[in-house]
Amino acid sequence: SEERILRSEKLSVIGQLAAGVAHEIRNPLTALKGFTQLLRSKYRDEATYFGIMEGELDRINLIVNEFMTLAKPHLSPFQPGNMDAILQSVVSILDTQAILMNVELVYQQQGELPLTSCNENQLKQVFVNVIKNAVESMPSGGKVQITARAEEIQGGQYIHIQVKDEGQGIPQELIRRLGEPFVTTKEKGTGLGLMVSTRIIEAHHGTIHIQSAPDEGTTVDISLPVL
Ligand code: ADP
Ligand code: MG
Repeated sequence: SEERILRSEKLSVIGQLAAGVAHEIRNPLTALKGFTQLLRSKYRDEATYFGIMEGELDRINLIVNEFMTLAKPHLSPFQPGNMDAILQSVVSILDTQAILMNVELVYQQQGELPLTSCNENQLKQVFVNVIKNAVESMPSGGKVQITARAEEIQGGQYIHIQVKDEGQGIPQELIRRLGEPFVTTKEKGTGLGLMVSTRIIEAHHGTIHIQSAPDEGTTVDISLPVL
């Protein structure tokens, strides 16, 4: 099995620029989406074309949103956060989609969890990304096990969150490139989820570690320092 510790490059000037441009793209995009919907209902014969246009606009929006997160970790102040509540809410958000794909999400908190200093929305986004990847790795269904527990590493207190799937795993040549932008094997993927997640975890002074074996599954370990 192949392992990799994900580490992001420093947010470069180009990265900041990209995030700024992404922000500016959002408003015109919203207008385009609105009028496309309007035209779709007006020109019913051409509904398919307008539907495709809407789908493509949604895709631009998805990419733009992921880019914007890149600039944010430095702006928002951290607050005491309850990891158990964060994970429960993410699991409940993803549960409906998982059930449709025959995937069972099993979340277990092991012992008491101390508070972390965090940006709750950003951490939610990390776990949405990672758990979604786990679900998507099992096209014929399976189980995703999510555990959270307190951990002590060299005298430091951490919360350790593990997301373990029994999916198709990650090919060796790909695992080395994870966290780079646009690395995806999915037809509708952006290849930005892990890059954004890595940045967020690093902004929280945590670590993200991925271990995978083809056809056995993938385990993602995230450690976050406690308050
Ligand atoms: P996306 O999901 O849009 O493709 P990500 O950055 O989230 O982008 O993931 C990049 C790639 O890493 C995925 O396309 C997939 O090939 C691989 N990957 C990530 N997580 C898993 C997983 N749990 N199981 C299998 N492959 C994964
Ligand atoms: Mg993803």
